[in-house]
Amino acid sequence: MKIFECDHCGQTVYFDNEVCVACGHRLGFDPDTIAIYALKPTDQVNWHKADDSERTFRFCANASFGVCNWLLPEGGAEEFCPCCRHNNLIPDTGTEAGLNRFRRIVAAERHLFYSLLRWGVYTPTRAEDPQGGLVFDFLEDKVDQSGYLQPAMTGHENGAISLRVAEADDVTREIARNQMNEPYRTLLGHFRHEVGHYIWDRLVRDGGRLDTFRAVFGDEREDYQAALQRHYDNGPPAGWQENFVSAYASTHPWEDFAESFAHALHIVDTLETARAFGLKVDDVEPEPLDDPYQCESGKRLADSWVPLTLAINAIHKSMGQKDFYPFVLSSAIITKLDFVFTLLNRQSGSKSPDRH
Ligand SMILES: [Zn+2]
Ligand SMILES: [Zn+2]
Ligand SMILES: [Zn+2]
Repeated sequence: MKIFECDHCGQTVYFDNEVCVACGHRLGFDPDTIAIYALKPTDQVNWHKADDSERTFRFCANASFGVCNWLLPEGGAEEFCPCCRHNNLIPDTGTEAGLNRFRRIVAAERHLFYSLLRWGVYTPTRAEDPQGGLVFDFLEDKVDQSGYLQPAMTGHENGAISLRVAEADDVTREIARNQMNEPYRTLLGHFRHEVGHYIWDRLVRDGGRLDTFRAVFGDEREDYQAALQRHYDNGPPAGWQENFVSAYASTHPWEDFAESFAHALHIVDTLETARAFGLKVDDVEPEPLDDPYQCESGKRLADSWVPLTLAINAIHKSMGQKDFYPFVLSSAIITKLDFVFTLLNRQSGSKSPDRH
């Protein structure tokens, strides 16, 4: 994630900021230019750039809940921004707790969409593509007739992604992480993994890349349910770390791709953030990448990424925290990342951030 600048006063501002702490202007993120603008109200609904009354916008309808800070062009037909328009079932915004969960979920979702915008990945909605458009259902847990909690499932099917709302609460998510014996579990990680399945459908299966996919990840025609059952019964194969970025990635080529896709996004987004702050591990990292989103080489990204993760892992330990990046990238995993980066860099609509 890049660092932004208030285009009115020059103050450093961040992706989620809603107000400039220096000049007090309302801020909005424009997904068309990947920039944050200082705004003044034109009327009850519309806003214009503080220093350019000709550039006019509306806020995403979720701004009324304090859930989204993204802008839309004034007068357009869409009610929601390019991120929020994919949401179908949402948490109960009538309660404080529900609204807080929704806020955390959409914050992670916007972060995901920032990366998709940077690569120019086209994500049609269900209105645009009724069979395979991208849609999110944020699902609440249920209590069955015997009083037992039935946790909602997180998963993907033909562009429909469901996400368990309760995982917006740290305690619930940490319990799930422990039960699943995972080193890392976040809302953003869920979004990146599940959208990886959607990207596989569109860019690998429908994009005529099955042969190259199978050469790297294996044959996805293997029975998926049987593969999952084998994983839950027996655990990952011995020595899985050589070939898979996580134990779960070893279940089936689809999960391997989704995990690799999530890591591609973790790496590129975090490297961009590190670059934005001028962070570089002296004498270890090669010449820093100007824009990690433009890089197609998994090896080149790993050369910058691994020294950074070693440093930040050590910093986390100094604070009594667990590893920031608890994964090891073998050469087999880097080949898988290469496949993902090549796929993403072939997208046509990629955008570089506007300076203002
Ligand atoms: Zn300002
Ligand atoms: Zn929005
Ligand atoms: Zn999955």
